[in-house]
Amino acid sequence: MNLNNRIYLDFNATAPVVAPVKDMLSSTELSFGNPSSVHATGKKARRALNEVRSFLYSTFGLSETDFQLYFHSGATEGINTFVKGLALKATSKKEKLSFYAFRSDHSCVCNQKPFLETLGHTYHCVPVAKDGSLNVGALEDLIQQDSADIKVVNWTWVNNETGIVSPLSKIGELKKNHKIIVHVDGVQAPGKIANWSELNNTLDAYTFSGHKFGALKGSGFSFIKEGLELCALLNGGGQQQGLRSGTENTWGIYSLKAALEHVKKNYDFTSQNQATRQLEAKILDIVGEKGEVIGAANPHRNGNTIDLLLYGIKAHTSAMVFDMAGLDVSNGSACSSGAVIPSRVLLSMGYDEDQAKSALRLSFGPYFNEKEAKEIWPKLEEILKRLLS
Ligand code: PLP
Repeated sequence: MNLNNRIYLDFNATAPVVAPVKDMLSSTELSFGNPSSVHATGKKARRALNEVRSFLYSTFGLSETDFQLYFHSGATEGINTFVKGLALKATSKKEKLSFYAFRSDHSCVCNQKPFLETLGHTYHCVPVAKDGSLNVGALEDLIQQDSADIKVVNWTWVNNETGIVSPLSKIGELKKNHKIIVHVDGVQAPGKIANWSELNNTLDAYTFSGHKFGALKGSGFSFIKEGLELCALLNGGGQQQGLRSGTENTWGIYSLKAALEHVKKNYDFTSQNQATRQLEAKILDIVGEKGEVIGAANPHRNGNTIDLLLYGIKAHTSAMVFDMAGLDVSNGSACSSGAVIPSRVLLSMGYDEDQAKSALRLSFGPYFNEKEAKEIWPKLEEILKRLLS
C-alpha cells in the first residue's frame, strides 16, 4: 500500500485507519457522551455502543446468551485480563491452575509465566513443529498428566510472524476429550484468512484487536463464555459488568464496527492470497539458494504474509536497506535496547540463533491484489538483488 510516499508492507504490526473510520470521526452524528450518563447525550453514546455490540455478535456468529462481550484497549489487555483473571479467581478458591501456551505464541501470552508462578500456578510451554504447526499431540500428553483443577490453553489462530494458520477445529477436537478452557488469540485473523469471522462456539474465549484491521489503536474486544469466573484487573465504577471498569473508549469502539464492516464488504481472500503467493514466487526466484520462506511447506497459511529468511544477512541490516528505499517491512526479530533478539517464533520452529535473527516479514493489507503487487515489484526486486549481490 502506497502511503505518504512510503510503501507500507507491515500490516501484521498495525493497519492504517480505513476511510470509513476517518469519515466517522468527522461526523457530527457521533455522541461524545459518557455511556453511563443518564441524560440524552449519554444515552446516545450507549445506544451507539450497543449497536457495535450487536454487530460484533452477529458478525462472529456468537450469541449474547452464550458469550459475554467486553471492550478493552487491545489484545495485550484482553489476554492479560483473561489469564490473570482466571488465575486470581483460582487462587481465591484455593484451586490450582495450569496455563498452556505454545512457544510461538505472542509475547503477551508467553510472558504470563512469572505472574502465574508467583501465585503458585503452573505455566507450560508447548512445542511447535518445524513447519510452525502447533503440536497438539504434545499438548494432549501434558494435559493427560496434569492434575491441576483448571487447565487453560491459548490457541493462536494465525501466527503474527509466519502467517501459519492453526485451524480452530484442531483445538475443538481436543476439547471434546478433555476438560480444558480454550482461549483463542484471533488478533491476526480479520482480513488475513478466508473464514476470519467463523468462530467455534464450543471454545471459551476469543480476543481481537482493532488496530490490526483499520480501527483506532487502543480498541479491542473479547468474547468470554458465560459462566467462566474471572477476577477483574481494573476495579472502579463497575462498567462492563465490573469486568473492566473505566469509561468506555467510545470512539475506539465505534471504529471497530466501521472497520469490520469495511473488511466484511471488501475483503477478498482469494485475490489477496494469489497476489501474495505470486509475489512470493518471484522473490524466491531471485533468492534461490540464499534463503527460504518460513513455513512455505505448511498447507495452512494466511493470505497476506511472507516471512523471508535471508541466510547470513541480519534482519536489522536488511530492514534498514528496505527502509532507506522507502519500504516499511518488519525485521521479525525484535530489537531491545539496540540488541537484536532472535525471533522466538523461528527458534520454536527449530531454526538456529543466526537464522532467527535473519528473517524479514512482509505483510500486506486485506485489499492487496495483483495490481498492487505489480506496482511494488520493481523496487522489491532491486532491493533484493542489491542485498544478495
Ligand atoms: N497477539 C498477536 C498474535 C499479535 O500479533 C499481537 C500484536 O502484534 C498481540 C496479540 C497484541 O496485540 P495488541 O497490539 O492489541 O496489544
